[in-house]
Amino acid sequence: MRTTNWMILALLAVTLTAAAQQSAPAPQNPQAAPTAQTGSAPAQATLAPPTTMDQVVDRVILREKDLIKFLAPRTPIVETYLQDLTQDPQLGPIPQSDHYFLGRMDLSDSIDRSDYLGDKDGKGKDKEDSMEKHLLGGFTKMFKFQYQPLGFSWMIYADRNDFDRQHYDFHYARREFLGDVRCLVFDITPKKDAGRGRFLGRIWVEDQDFNIVRLNGTYARPSRNTFFFHMDSWRLNLIPGYWVPAYIYSEEGDFTAGAHNKIAFKAQTRMWGYNLKTGTPNDELTQIRVDSVKDDTPTAQDASPLAAEREWQQQAEDNVIERLERAGLLAPEGDVDKILQTVVNNLEITNNIELPRPVRTRVLTTSPLETFSVGNTIVVSRGLIDVLPDEGSLAMMLSHELAHIVLGHNLGSQYAFNDRMLFSDEGTFANLGFKHIPEEETAADKKAIEMLKASPYAQKLETAGLFIKALQVRAPQLTALLQAHLGNSMIDNGTVTRMAALVNGAPALDWNKLDQIAALPLGGRVKLNAWDDKVEMVKAQPVAITSARDKMPFEVTPFFPRLSRYNATSAPAAAPTTATTAANSSPAPAN
Ligand SMILES: [Zn+2]
Repeated sequence: MRTTNWMILALLAVTLTAAAQQSAPAPQNPQAAPTAQTGSAPAQATLAPPTTMDQVVDRVILREKDLIKFLAPRTPIVETYLQDLTQDPQLGPIPQSDHYFLGRMDLSDSIDRSDYLGDKDGKGKDKEDSMEKHLLGGFTKMFKFQYQPLGFSWMIYADRNDFDRQHYDFHYARREFLGDVRCLVFDITPKKDAGRGRFLGRIWVEDQDFNIVRLNGTYARPSRNTFFFHMDSWRLNLIPGYWVPAYIYSEEGDFTAGAHNKIAFKAQTRMWGYNLKTGTPNDELTQIRVDSVKDDTPTAQDASPLAAEREWQQQAEDNVIERLERAGLLAPEGDVDKILQTVVNNLEITNNIELPRPVRTRVLTTSPLETFSVGNTIVVSRGLIDVLPDEGSLAMMLSHELAHIVLGHNLGSQYAFNDRMLFSDEGTFANLGFKHIPEEETAADKKAIEMLKASPYAQKLETAGLFIKALQVRAPQLTALLQAHLGNSMIDNGTVTRMAALVNGAPALDWNKLDQIAALPLGGRVKLNAWDDKVEMVKAQPVAITSARDKMPFEVTPFFPRLSRYNATSAPAAAPTTATTAANSSPAPAN
């Protein structure tokens, strides 16, 4: 069986090579011969190991083409968060302004991207001339250094159309471990007549199946109006046989004396939701389940008016949570929820809060800092959990939403009507919203501070106040990061409003005080699985902070995931997080 698969693959490869040799490569037909091993172990598992570097390169090319084919029917979510930099004499490069892009990427023949955020960033999809489009593998060019979201997502492949020996020279450099994975390292240069927009840089290839696991470099010979960014692109072995693109870090700019930069930025691009249902009509039929029809209630009777009201809110809550999860915007229930849940429980118990329905917590998969609640479910964004310095500040954020629930500020009961769930994933932000009126915001803050003062976090609110102070210092530059998409923003006209009263008890913000950690960089706490959207806490060894420049509050940093091979039998690593500095300790349940 596997041999047959391999033969199909080999035939395909021959076809592709033949196509590549022609001057004008024919567009690949997405319907044509899907590789039969999709979803199963890679075909070359049955191949003899290559004996020369030339054979290795052939395998690499084959595997890359197979990955492109495998991902073609998928439409992952792609998020790019970018910070423009300016030089601060004391802190080094710091954010000056920021940009945020979120969309679904269509990885089929012509790579395209549809936006969740509407067109409010201006500059939607200009029509590009087909020549440029071809050169960039179907992506938009970037006029005058303007950041087109597509510019980052196309870096998932070295060269979508022409990754082959006709267009590139491959030079073996060395062997190197990336995490647990032994890799072969190749330097890749485009051939002289290969044309514009060709990859120039280095690839890391794992040494069992010869999949590319990391790409680092840029694209060569930009035309006059095109600008190619440098990128460091990482793939993870999240399913058997394939390494899927998960992270891209980009950075430009030089702050050495005398350098004149037109452009200086750093950006993180994350991909996830590869396994999201694409929502074909047939899905509906395959998902029909016949649940138990037995009614377990001892006395089956109609609901009282209050019970009916609660039932109604529960229905709205379930609808919204399910819809957000289906759009890839909410992580499935998991261990991070348990941590959040514990903090909520601590607040509830010490304040004698008893609610008719339990309060649940979930993680929004996106970076902008926001919280909201729908019914009794509190939702906190991944980015917010990342930057919160400690458990007390996490309690501060959760207490605000818990206060809304306790005060009965229910929102979203209109979503109990199922027709309101019938919108495209990209329409999520336009169709759902959980913003409170200012009066409810003020009341929630007041109640939240009461609850915090009666809780185990009463003695830990200084850092929470410091966090608000740090947020205030950076707020004018980080409008995109602070733009909430479903809930209330924490700022109003550049001033932090959320829980602002806590700054009164906080010490002065001092960047030079190395043990004072007011906020963390993005991406340090929560790890999002690109394939199944699950989130988990990062288990990273804390690194000592040696200067004010190491603090990087709210900032974008490079990715350095520890690579490992997919192992179906291994449960998520149970290694405890070692927390030796405040900066890196995970928010853990209070005692
Ligand atoms: Zn609120």
